[in-house]
Amino acid sequence: MAVFTAEHNALRKLVRDFAETEIGPYTEEWEAKGIFPAHELFSKMAKLDLLGLEYDTAYGGQGADHLCTVILHEELGRVGPAGVALGIGVQTDMATPSLHHFGTEELKQRYLVPAIKGDAVCSVAVTEPDAGSDVTALRTRAVRDGDDWVINGAKAYITNGTQADWVCLLARTSDRPGYGGLSQIIVPTGTPGCQVQRKLDKLGMRSSDTAELTFTDVRVPVSNTIGELGQGFYQQMSQFQNERLALSYAAVGGMETALTRTANYLKTRDVFGKPLIENQHLNFTLAELSARLDLLRHYNYTAAAAYIRGEDVNRFATVAKLEAGRLAREISATCLQFHGAVGYMEEMWTARFFRDSPVWSIGGGADEVMLYVLSRLDGYHA
Ligand SMILES: Cc1cc2nc3c(=O)[nH]c(=O)nc-3n(C[C@H](O)[C@H](O)[C@H](O)COP(=O)(O)OP(=O)(O)OC[C@H]3O[C@@H](n4cnc5c(N)ncnc54)[C@H](O)[C@@H]3O)c2cc1C
Repeated sequence: MAVFTAEHNALRKLVRDFAETEIGPYTEEWEAKGIFPAHELFSKMAKLDLLGLEYDTAYGGQGADHLCTVILHEELGRVGPAGVALGIGVQTDMATPSLHHFGTEELKQRYLVPAIKGDAVCSVAVTEPDAGSDVTALRTRAVRDGDDWVINGAKAYITNGTQADWVCLLARTSDRPGYGGLSQIIVPTGTPGCQVQRKLDKLGMRSSDTAELTFTDVRVPVSNTIGELGQGFYQQMSQFQNERLALSYAAVGGMETALTRTANYLKTRDVFGKPLIENQHLNFTLAELSARLDLLRHYNYTAAAAYIRGEDVNRFATVAKLEAGRLAREISATCLQFHGAVGYMEEMWTARFFRDSPVWSIGGGADEVMLYVLSRLDGYHA
């Protein structure tokens, strides 16, 4: 069982205060610009020791437990905008776990330390124009030339992609069939041949920049390989578990805010001579969604406890992200509906949350991929 201590509660307050002063007030500005200033924000977060909570103190991390990660993402999700929580999540729990677990000492000093210090922004680059759900279809190729990799290919939908100083790239390093032909390689984005093709215009998560990247004869040392050659697929699948859990934690924070704000609005809006909240249909619906959110939150806490015990959390991460995506879409649609016309206005948080929510059912593996993983884990198909 997950037990939050006084230290955890102090961290929660720290993150909440930080988000309320350094993120919340800039929501409209960053959403309109389609980007948040990652270097600036990460450097502020690093001063509060928030970018390497679970990482080894030898690299500037805090050596804290996974409940601290839960708190970080819940609180970032609670204050919003969700796009900023996503960009931070990529830095802390989506692009760096493999490096921390499998990277060499030299690689960690060169790339993990600046990421935790907030000096370097990073991305995880797996998806390609023709390879999303089926990671094994990816075509970006690294060919060995002496002590270097020469990389050619393209990556799509890369979060933090226009600002990243380095990417954790998944590339094909051999023609071995199956899962053994892929490796994870750190690619500094300043390397000649590495280019941001374009910044993508998205439905939601607008404060987070998302890019298409291309690699043309990009030369990086073979020593930039994370872990063992040919183990990239397995390492990325493990990294995806951190990603899926972080997405679910952040979604819970966002949904909690949405339900609270909606209840508050319904208390102040009089329709047919009484506050809307007095309609049983409305307050029952909020109560029901709140109960389901509680189930997800406590499922997340159980997942976190299993993670801390060092157990395999594949099933937990899969179920958590699947349910987070589905519940977020339902809650965002309901909150918008209960606000009436004003909820449909671009100036309202309801419109933003409605546009942001579908990403939890697509990014980090679509709902259907979660069902595919789950049906295999549970023995529903061969
Ligand atoms: C805002 C945003 C940020 C992202 N950030 C990153 C990032 O930082 N790094 C990165 O590498 N990627 C990132 N992605 C990409 C994301 O991981 C992929 O979009 C996702 O894995 C799905 O791949 P796809 O879009 O190619 O969909 P496809 O693989 O083309 O699938 C399309 C749809 O088909 C269905 N489907 C797929 N497989 C199955 C199946 N086996 N059975 C039944 N139905 C199926 C699903 O509904 C799926 O949504 C991001 C995406 C978004 C939207």
